[in-house]
Amino acid sequence: MIGAKTALPDISFSTGELRYSPGMKTEPGIRPSEALKHVRYEIRGRLARRALELERQGYEIISLNIGNPRAFGLRTPETMRLAMIENLAQAEGYCHQKGIFPAREAVVMQQQERGIGGVTAEEVFIGNGVSELIDLTLRALLSDGDEVLVPSPDYPLWTAAVTLNRGRAVHYPCRPAQGFVPDPEEIARLITPRTRAIVIINPNNPTGAVYPRAVLEALARLAEQHGLVVFSDEIYDQMTYEGAEFVPMATLVHDTLCATLSGLSKVYRACGYRAGWAVFSGRVHAAAEYLDALELLASLRLCSNVMAQWAVQTALGGHQSIRELIAPGGRLYESRAVILEAVRRSRYLTLAPPAGAMYAFVGVDEASVPDFDDQQFALDLLEQKHVLVAPGVSFNVPYRNHFRITNLPDAATLREVFSRIEELLGAYASGERRAGGAGADNVVSAESRFKSTL
Ligand code: PLP
Repeated sequence: MIGAKTALPDISFSTGELRYSPGMKTEPGIRPSEALKHVRYEIRGRLARRALELERQGYEIISLNIGNPRAFGLRTPETMRLAMIENLAQAEGYCHQKGIFPAREAVVMQQQERGIGGVTAEEVFIGNGVSELIDLTLRALLSDGDEVLVPSPDYPLWTAAVTLNRGRAVHYPCRPAQGFVPDPEEIARLITPRTRAIVIINPNNPTGAVYPRAVLEALARLAEQHGLVVFSDEIYDQMTYEGAEFVPMATLVHDTLCATLSGLSKVYRACGYRAGWAVFSGRVHAAAEYLDALELLASLRLCSNVMAQWAVQTALGGHQSIRELIAPGGRLYESRAVILEAVRRSRYLTLAPPAGAMYAFVGVDEASVPDFDDQQFALDLLEQKHVLVAPGVSFNVPYRNHFRITNLPDAATLREVFSRIEELLGAYASGERRAGGAGADNVVSAESRFKSTL
């Protein structure tokens, strides 16, 4: 069981290894900060570096490890580019630490349209992507040993940022068998006097789960009852499929502080712009000191990328082109359908169908593929089939039979990917290749090739 006292599996890939290895001279004695000891971000870790190396050798790698829409040909809406170009001259100087007023006001209006009252531009902070705001909002809150409830699986920056900011991530399970939806009663049992906050990622990365209203309501009541700050990461807010209802957490949280985080990276396919926002609602009046601390941190980094902020108002108003991408016939819808179909036909794969976001967290049936190991599988898939996926263990789960794939590529590419996955799993299942890595010649040689580069 996952919980406060359950250790997550050690990821041998990440700990204590040097990034720069072959032939590179490293000065002895320059040690990195102790604070990084337990911090990991495997999505851009060793496998990704190996993929780059293979590409440099001339291999064509299908990289499905990162949710980068541009890498798959999806463009930022033209109007956003125009808005940015039009305002370039105004983007030359620093702006206010919380961001430019039109961007913050656009976020306020989106909140109002969603029925979230009492929010003004004062409660909006624009950051260099949601990533920066995850760090700042936690840094302003946490003291040594404070606990934060984080989903498992999670988007691993949340766990990393809690750890980096001296807190302790307490993972609450979102199990495959429950469609990756958390159980509020189970979460309640993880709360201690040190618990300060709960992180909710909805729609979820990596699972694509979209949480039912009743579950979110129960989580809101739990947070209110224990005075927890709610961090609701809603960066995939408009990416839902087949009528799944996205419920903004801020519509449900009234009696404690709620931070909603979102941005331009996914829905607006502009992750290179680095623009995101945190908007505070609920018991804002009781959080004045916290918001002052956050503003201090925002001031220390002066401001976020001003150019991109000029695209926010244009993005949030008017036509929302994401709707065409997620509707039948749209790119994301059709690619997701390929994943569902491939899993349905597979002899080895299982999946709780994603209702939102742009990922599937695919399981491998361990009865059909004994000794399956997600990291070894990801390594073999890369070395032998030239496909890069993120092994499930990258997302802070205690089990080892999942991998994450994105539905950003076109349907044809995904069909090809799943046929290669099926081939590899078929070889594992037939004993031609051992799923655990040790034994079969080709796996060993792949592994040693891999190791020799590190
Ligand atoms: N939160 C979640 C759930 C994500 O999946 C990502 C990126 O993949 C981020 C935050 C980071 O987004 P940004 O590009 O705005 O920093």
